[in-house]
Amino acid sequence: MKVIDLRSDTVTRPTAAMREAMMTAEVGDDVYGEDPTVNRLQERAAKLLGKEDALFFPSGTMANQAAIHSLTRAGDVVLASKSCHILKYESGAASAFSGVQIKTIGEQGVFDADEVRENLHPDEQHFAPTTVVAVENTHNMAGGRVFPAELLEGVVAVAREAGLRLHLDGARLFNAAIASGTDPARLAEPFDTVSICLSKGLGAPVGSLVGASFERVHRLRRIRKMFGGGMRQAGFLAAAGIYALEHHVERLAEDHANARFLAEGLQKLGLPVAGTPETNMVMFDFEDTLGLVRGTRARHLLINPTGPGRFRAVTHLDVSASDLEEALARLGEALEELRG
Ligand SMILES: *Cc1c(COP(=O)(O)O)cnc(C)c1O
Repeated sequence: MKVIDLRSDTVTRPTAAMREAMMTAEVGDDVYGEDPTVNRLQERAAKLLGKEDALFFPSGTMANQAAIHSLTRAGDVVLASKSCHILKYESGAASAFSGVQIKTIGEQGVFDADEVRENLHPDEQHFAPTTVVAVENTHNMAGGRVFPAELLEGVVAVAREAGLRLHLDGARLFNAAIASGTDPARLAEPFDTVSICLSKGLGAPVGSLVGASFERVHRLRRIRKMFGGGMRQAGFLAAAGIYALEHHVERLAEDHANARFLAEGLQKLGLPVAGTPETNMVMFDFEDTLGLVRGTRARHLLINPTGPGRFRAVTHLDVSASDLEEALARLGEALEELRG
């Protein structure tokens, strides 16, 4: 029985054409800046993001944390959304490596200008200075939600007026761009640093980038080295990234359509779905968390719970619409067993 893996869009394996691009990549020592494929990837990413420059990182976590390190001093406060990746899923790195506190604001992955304004600490000895606003777009734990443009405009205006810097965790920025029909450069425009992941919906095996100004990328290169992320013949990985940016961006629309199809199917099975999926994730509820995990696993269907009674199913390059029909059939069987 074929395993259908809806745990995450990170589980994809490189396609044959991507492997071919990797095999034939021209490489050099990237710590010397001599890997032509890495350089090409960085130029392409910078252009897509509308930034002066970009830097290749081995992971999204390192990309985000290097960006935060470049934007803050120890003791600063970073404002971010509830359940954001930089706080919840990066192993405490922001406090460990940058000595900053992350204060969460808003609901469901988004916040507005007023919430930023209320958290601008007065310049007085008792208060830690708020220096950065971090946005996650799309928002993972809010179910792949796109940060609404009109809210973002207000947030940016308040942040800029108060002299704050802005970071975008754009691990799934291309999902946001495709879903909203917006140029990724436009979504990235207000931010000093923008991280993107090649190994999520884009289907590359490894890699993230941060787009920023020349000056900041210079600083980020030092931080990357300090964090242990200076890589040598990384062009083999960068080649997969270039291939992904060339061939796997537009097709994200398929993942989004598949997520909507899945959501409808889940509802037909009597599982409450949290809203209509905006991108490639479906959040749904079933009380017997462990029961459903076991029941689906036994049928070679993998779906992760994100908390008690709450599940997240993610569509990606390696699941087709017919795989999802099959997934719904297996889920139906598992539910039948559980409901008796
Ligand atoms: C996956 C992800 C990252 C990066 O995670 P890595 O596993 O370190 O590549 C960052 N932000 C968000 C929102 C993510 O989903």
